[in-house]
Amino acid sequence: MQTYAYGFPRLGKNREYKRAIEKYWRGSSSKNELRRDIDELDEARLSTYEKYVDKFPVGEMTLYCNILDTAIMVGLYDCKDMDEYYSLCRGKNALKLTKWFNTNYHYLVPEFAGFSPSNFTMGWNKPKEAPQSHKKGIPYLIGPFTFLKLSRGIPEKRFGDYLFNLVDVYKEIIQNFDKVHIDEPAFVTEISEKDIKLIKDAYNRLDTGNIYLFTYYDSVDFLDVLYELPIKAIGLDFLSCDGNLDYIEKHGFASDKYLIAGIVNGRNVWKTDIKRAVELLKHLSEFSCDLLASNSCPLYHLPITIEGENLDRRLLNRLAFARERLYELKLISSCLEGDYNEDYNSGVGDFGINEEVREKVKKLSPRDFEKENTYPERAAKQKKLLSLPLFPTTTIGSFPQTREIREKRKGFKRGNISNEEYNSFIRKKISDVIKFQEDSGLDVLVHGELERTDMVEFFALKLQGFATTKNGWIISYGTRGYRPPIIYGDISRPNPMSVDEITFAQNLTKKPVKGILTGPVTMIAWSFVRENVPIREVAYQIALCLNDEIKDLERSGIRIIQIDEPAFREMAPIKKRDWDEYFDWAIKSFKLASKSNPETQIHTHMCYSEFGEIIDKIKELDFDVISIEATRGKGDIIRYFKERGFDRQIGLGVWDVHSPDVPTVEDIKKAIKRAIKFIPKENLWINPDCGLKTRDWKEVVPGIGNMVKAAKELRDELKLRARSSS
Ligand code: GLN
Ligand code: ZN
Repeated sequence: MQTYAYGFPRLGKNREYKRAIEKYWRGSSSKNELRRDIDELDEARLSTYEKYVDKFPVGEMTLYCNILDTAIMVGLYDCKDMDEYYSLCRGKNALKLTKWFNTNYHYLVPEFAGFSPSNFTMGWNKPKEAPQSHKKGIPYLIGPFTFLKLSRGIPEKRFGDYLFNLVDVYKEIIQNFDKVHIDEPAFVTEISEKDIKLIKDAYNRLDTGNIYLFTYYDSVDFLDVLYELPIKAIGLDFLSCDGNLDYIEKHGFASDKYLIAGIVNGRNVWKTDIKRAVELLKHLSEFSCDLLASNSCPLYHLPITIEGENLDRRLLNRLAFARERLYELKLISSCLEGDYNEDYNSGVGDFGINEEVREKVKKLSPRDFEKENTYPERAAKQKKLLSLPLFPTTTIGSFPQTREIREKRKGFKRGNISNEEYNSFIRKKISDVIKFQEDSGLDVLVHGELERTDMVEFFALKLQGFATTKNGWIISYGTRGYRPPIIYGDISRPNPMSVDEITFAQNLTKKPVKGILTGPVTMIAWSFVRENVPIREVAYQIALCLNDEIKDLERSGIRIIQIDEPAFREMAPIKKRDWDEYFDWAIKSFKLASKSNPETQIHTHMCYSEFGEIIDKIKELDFDVISIEATRGKGDIIRYFKERGFDRQIGLGVWDVHSPDVPTVEDIKKAIKRAIKFIPKENLWINPDCGLKTRDWKEVVPGIGNMVKAAKELRDELKLRARSSS
């Protein structure tokens, strides 16, 4: 049996991708040098594919984002050089950044306002034929339907116009190749009858007969239609869902097409059970005689390799990252030829069980998930206690992680710096951040999260049941990576996690210091989660730890606590029919975590997702204040909050933290004035879109200054207006 792999990470084993691009941004390398670095990296990727599998795409490499590349390919943006390209990725003219399906990978959203369907044309970065050295490579493209569905500014009624015109450009590109790889993950969303018809017409119009079409992250609801399309192969995900297998068992598979069966996991790190995979393939071969084995979805959700990781043997024995997935495909293929190797899955037992934790989860009753006071009752108490001004100003939590801080942490981890020295260094930095915030005139302060490398990893290091890796980086957007921890066992909190730093900060100031925790959904979403326990149980285990932390914070006099849940939208299943189950545990785990005294003001924070459709779910979280990213979307989101009768306080982000540009006082005032039209002014806060950890102090100082100034001017203007009208 042949094997086909795709989406192998582009980051490089030592994050060469990030290094190369950021070096160019700093002005320390030329365009040619960057091109060469990136080509070298791509060559390494292709050689890895070549070593293990029979088929793979070429041209997956990008200088930042494949969706943006597609937009350029079809003439939506006319950027002729790298600098124009990067100006769409970051800075003043950057496109909106959003999560890719239900993952923490982000793409830049193409903007179609002002672009008519007849404007599509062949742009500059067309896919190229596979290089001589990798003849098996198949040119890679994002599919036209997915591309348009992920864009903004296309009038619903004219979607078909856009699609057909776009398809004409695709046809021109595709017909030069003998095969093409096309990703259409949007085919797994819940698609209307009208769109199914459009897909059918579009692909019939595209009719080039050489398409290997890939879907992933969920099942396709209209496989019957795909069977009829003039395409060569259909890639389906058999791991994230049952739908594809159910359909094939009932109705068979297209007799004239290859079935590319996604059977090794592109999203989680547990070794494939080779025996089971082989059985599944044998079963599938009853329905298709042209079967290929593949990964379930792109491999860029995984770190490159477990090689060099220093983990507990028992855990290491159970893991497979991207390169190991390629190895598994090879293994599966040779097993099918009768060459079965028992060793690979042997010794994979369960460990990390904690009976006490399991007992606690079992004993939970409905009362544990509900607050004792209503929001108005709580709000009254908090108002009295906190006495904040109109438009309170705050930040999301993190302040710049400077080189100095990173170096110190490295030294500490390597053992070159003692515990005491590191702690007193962090304390000194916390004092500086507190002083800066006081001097700036912010209303609610934070301790700056300077001791945290990453909002998930930090807590993972303090909790039992989580493991962290040394080099397990994956890309979140552009050049930014993170290292997802691995949840392998029951989760408990041996000691308080954040109390020392926060109380230290609170003791330096009379203003309230907000304690910042990462919520259960985000802890799970940005980790690799065990699959041998229901996810709901994992979430409740984390929630119980967080709740213990909150009680400790309350006891130490902390009056405001923020539970970050930036992954709340992202984790929602792609198909809405699966939402109830997810939101039920997601909401309950937040409520379990956040159960607190009525005097404690509970905040949450969310960002970089499409929130419009889930506002009712957000409301159910029963927090007091939410801060939400809104700058790149021009604050459109606020309208939905009003429509859905949102009655809590909200901090609408006024500062795009992914950009080096600082908002002006006027920008901020404009954003708030727009928001006042939808939300009572008493409920509005002023804050950046997200944490400031990736920014530079030279941006943070004026940015915070402008926020405070804008708040003050708005308060004065309102007072003036009140006076003149009375
Ligand atoms: N509190 C975190 C910070 O400020 C939130 C980050 C996030 O939402 N991704 O960095
Ligand atoms: Zn955020």
